[in-house]
Amino acid sequence: MRLRNITGSREVIGDSRFVVHEPNEQKGNWQSLFGNSNPIRIEIGMGKGKFLHTLAKMNPDVNYIGIEKYSSVLLRAIQKMEQEELPNLLFIRMDAEEIEDVFAPGEVDKIYLNFSDPWPKDRHAKRRLPSRQFLGRYNNILKKDGRLEFKTDNRELFDFAVAELPEAGWQTEAITYDLHHEEEMLIGNVMTEYEEKFSSMGNPICKYIIYR
Ligand code: SAM
Repeated sequence: MRLRNITGSREVIGDSRFVVHEPNEQKGNWQSLFGNSNPIRIEIGMGKGKFLHTLAKMNPDVNYIGIEKYSSVLLRAIQKMEQEELPNLLFIRMDAEEIEDVFAPGEVDKIYLNFSDPWPKDRHAKRRLPSRQFLGRYNNILKKDGRLEFKTDNRELFDFAVAELPEAGWQTEAITYDLHHEEEMLIGNVMTEYEEKFSSMGNPICKYIIYR
């Protein structure tokens, strides 16, 4: 998701108390920052943050952190928090490549990837968020029995993501190629912005839940 450059978005982010500005300094300390011992769940490539904002509202006993690379998109998530502030949701503006600098081993309880950028060229495969390179990074920050959940309508990206699993030492707990017609996996489903858009166009949504 590339929004046009929004003038002043960097300044708004720089001043926002909903954004953790030196996330590396919080490595191993995230629960203390939230002031509780609740689990930490993160969405990587959060976009405008609707999914996490909804989850954080539904689950006050879970701490959520949204990670987003672009200021212009993160700005929207901040604006949503300004309208409806939640104590259990924080944001980081960063490239997820550096995720191991920000979370200690086992510090994260669950990772969400939603409608990740496809990077269709083969030479860019390692930039895809469900690639084996990223799975290796997630392996280092996710707790032992933690889960990663991935949704997309992009079948090519999903097939790639599934093929990466054995290479990276992960296993499938649940998988569907049509989430919105899969009663059991649909229970408790919170739609993302992209999910609303693409499912309303009739695109089937793929999802897996994986562990290692
Ligand atoms: N998750 C949202 C949804 O489902 O509506 C947004 C999906 S959007 C297609 C993907 C988002 O991931 C974009 O906002 C993009 O900037 C972000 N993103 C892509 N690669 C990233 C990375 N390496 N680190 C952090 N964010 C990333």
